[in-house]
Amino acid sequence: MTQHVVIAGGGIGGLACALSLARAGVSVDLLEQAGTLGEVGAGLQLGPNAVRVLDEWGLMDGLQACAAFPDALRVRDAHGGGQLGRLRLGAFARARYGQPYATIHRADLHGLLLDAVQRQSGVRLHLGARLAAYELFSTSVRATCEDDSVFQGAALIGADGLWSRVRTQMLGAQPVRASGHLAYRGMVHTDHLPTHLHHNTVTAWLGPRLHVVRYPVKRGEWFNVVAVVHGALGQGHGGPPGSDPQSWSHAARAQDLQRALGPVCADLKSMLDAVTEWKLWALNDRAPVASASEHAHGRVALLGDAAHPLRPYLAQGAAMALEDAWTLGRLLQTSPPDAATDWPALLARYAQTRWQRNARVQSRSQRNGTIFHASGLLRLGRNVAMTLLGESLLDNPWLYSGPPEPV
Ligand SMILES: Cc1cc2nc3c(=O)[nH]c(=O)nc-3n(C[C@H](O)[C@H](O)[C@H](O)COP(=O)(O)OP(=O)(O)OC[C@H]3O[C@@H](n4cnc5c(N)ncnc54)[C@H](O)[C@@H]3O)c2cc1C
Repeated sequence: MTQHVVIAGGGIGGLACALSLARAGVSVDLLEQAGTLGEVGAGLQLGPNAVRVLDEWGLMDGLQACAAFPDALRVRDAHGGGQLGRLRLGAFARARYGQPYATIHRADLHGLLLDAVQRQSGVRLHLGARLAAYELFSTSVRATCEDDSVFQGAALIGADGLWSRVRTQMLGAQPVRASGHLAYRGMVHTDHLPTHLHHNTVTAWLGPRLHVVRYPVKRGEWFNVVAVVHGALGQGHGGPPGSDPQSWSHAARAQDLQRALGPVCADLKSMLDAVTEWKLWALNDRAPVASASEHAHGRVALLGDAAHPLRPYLAQGAAMALEDAWTLGRLLQTSPPDAATDWPALLARYAQTRWQRNARVQSRSQRNGTIFHASGLLRLGRNVAMTLLGESLLDNPWLYSGPPEPV
């Protein structure tokens, strides 16, 4: 390995990036601020585009051992309970996209990537290493952590999430955007649900100013439940006003959620009542990426939420981080890294390949939130469109057939 890169952030994006670079023959220092590695207890949906990336990295057996593979996505009315739309997944997704649609616990995906990184030579993981700043030189970048440790590489990848320091230094301070939405997350063991709710589906219940999604994880032994409502931390939700907006794990009360949701249909109520512990986090994002130069600049590039934080309404945040990482690896495979590797040019190609797709997913995610939470005429129009257009409204061929080859 003649080339060396520094990655800030050991979340799903940072681990995926380390794996992708090491597979392409680049050694990595991976800096994670936390003293121990882990992920919060919640689920993730992985469209066929994300599964394709994991499959190419040889992680399909590992995925099958811990994920679930739902048969369908069902959209229902949160109040009446009636079905508004349905998209076949399962065999249909495999036939259409060559890959299944998976749902997984975040810790399981994080563990799968960590295990692969640890089996791959060339990655040194540094825990408790919080990047403070970087300095650019003519042929390298030097990253300095808060404990004064220093790491040097031919490039720096900022995979340090929504509140990214790499991003702040690269693009200047830009405040994150509060969505005004709160996500309540919980897990329920399948045995604790009435049997008619055991079905192997992603189910989304939509209502004015709210939606609730549930899907199986851990081979179907558990369900992940997320309820999104309008509101602000500390104002009738979670802890006191001024709660840390960066935390993903505020304690939450079922009665606050019930009050925010109002009356809901019987199935949804049974589902929510079966959750014994709720966690809460505020959903924040940024305006969609507006140009390639927001994604990479010289020897520094952003990846995952650091580049393009997403509202979760297209279920693609982790998927886009995986795609970003895959793209970097793909670029290195086509021109194997050596002392002559032109990192600024390579990162510029990465940015050109990724920025418009990531911006489109950001915009679509935001739009979905408006449609999911619609009331009045917009709600009526949505329901009519779902009935008339059926599956074509819920399917996303442009997205699920990805990731696109580098430009
Ligand atoms: C409610 C909700 C539901 C979601 N559902 C889905 C879904 O169904 N499907 C999907 O694909 N995505 C989903 N997402 C999005 C997905 O979780 C994120 O997009 C994804 O986890 C981003 O990963 P990341 O590694 O880029 O960032 P993060 O997960 O934020 O990781 C950043 C890492 O960097 C570390 N770090 C931060 N600063 C520093 C520093 N200065 N130095 C060193 N380390 C640092 C952090 O400790 C962290 O480990 C959802 C998100 C939310 C909020």
